[in-house]
Amino acid sequence: MKTTLRTDITVRDICEGFVYNELEGKGLFGLSGTLTIQPEYQRNYIYADGKKDVAVIESVLKNYPLGLIYFNKLGDGRLEVLDGQQRITSLGRYVTGKFAIKDANGMPQYFGALATDLQERILNTKLLIYECEGEESEIKEWFKTINIVGVPLNAQEISNAVYSGPFVTLCKAEFSNSQNANVQKWSAYISGAVNRQDFMECALDWVSRGKIEDYMSSHRFDNNINEVKAYFNSVIDWVSAVFMGVENEMRGLEWGRLYETYHHRAYNPKEVWEKVKELYADSYVKNRKGIFEYVLGGCVDTKLLEIRLFDDATKKSVYYRQTKEAEEKKISNCPYCAMGNDNNRTKIWLLKDMDADHVTAWSKGGATDISNCQMLCKSHNRAKGNK
Ligand SMILES: [Zn+2]
Repeated sequence: MKTTLRTDITVRDICEGFVYNELEGKGLFGLSGTLTIQPEYQRNYIYADGKKDVAVIESVLKNYPLGLIYFNKLGDGRLEVLDGQQRITSLGRYVTGKFAIKDANGMPQYFGALATDLQERILNTKLLIYECEGEESEIKEWFKTINIVGVPLNAQEISNAVYSGPFVTLCKAEFSNSQNANVQKWSAYISGAVNRQDFMECALDWVSRGKIEDYMSSHRFDNNINEVKAYFNSVIDWVSAVFMGVENEMRGLEWGRLYETYHHRAYNPKEVWEKVKELYADSYVKNRKGIFEYVLGGCVDTKLLEIRLFDDATKKSVYYRQTKEAEEKKISNCPYCAMGNDNNRTKIWLLKDMDADHVTAWSKGGATDISNCQMLCKSHNRAKGNK
């Protein structure tokens, strides 16, 4: 790969013919149309937060260095931004009046309202640019390693760069487009940000059963994303059909796995949601995220709910009462041992060798308080728990 350092390109040059696509959240072109700011393997513009974009402009006004920018020189003399797209897009958006910085008095200052000398300072700022020439694979491999400053690329953004092509472009248009009317519905079940590729990652994770890179690699040159879309929509439709309502804890659950495990079972959505609401109201349920799989599985696996345990004071108090009674009757302080016929029938266990047990199981309405607590030896407690 050949690199050339360029120090002659100014912000004015870059912003000549700057185009920003508000719909896709992308800076598109600059340098009088010869520079592609956001090649398809680049991520969306994420500096538009009134902080990072403002910081770029303030750095320029203070003559702070903006850091190195890398261009990829294409065969026909055109250039594309390899690294520095967020900074360049911030400059272009500011110069074209898309956002304001604040002056010393906290008043918003758009580019057009800046003093002329400050406008000139921005436009005349020279950027430090490396132009690189090389094979596509070489450039992309290197792109993975230079992206260490600013907001690092996440795993999906790197995969998008490595497997760029028609498939990634179509996936982004569907899953990384904040204008997609479905985003709000998806957000109920998927956590993350649409412009950081979190929804796309989720869709690919589901359809590939967790093998995203393999899937992207084998579908890289596909001209459709029918399978990804169909699978994704099946999962979302299934979740929203089985669960009539939406709770915060539903966001980010492993819906792909749950769909695979449970979608062949029949559910009565009304009963399902009644059960969910009942469990939400139950103060003994510590893990609310577990409610959904617990209900899908037929309300059997209470481990998913992390039912609140008896506290030490309760355990001690019950232990001493049981032990005192047992010693008077000369039987074991484990009521199950006391009913047996072996040597343990009269054994007095130490507190550390016993565990607290719900006399009436929590799932049958038993409370986690002293009235429903009994101490059992560890092996009896385990045996009862496994039933
Ligand atoms: Zn026992």
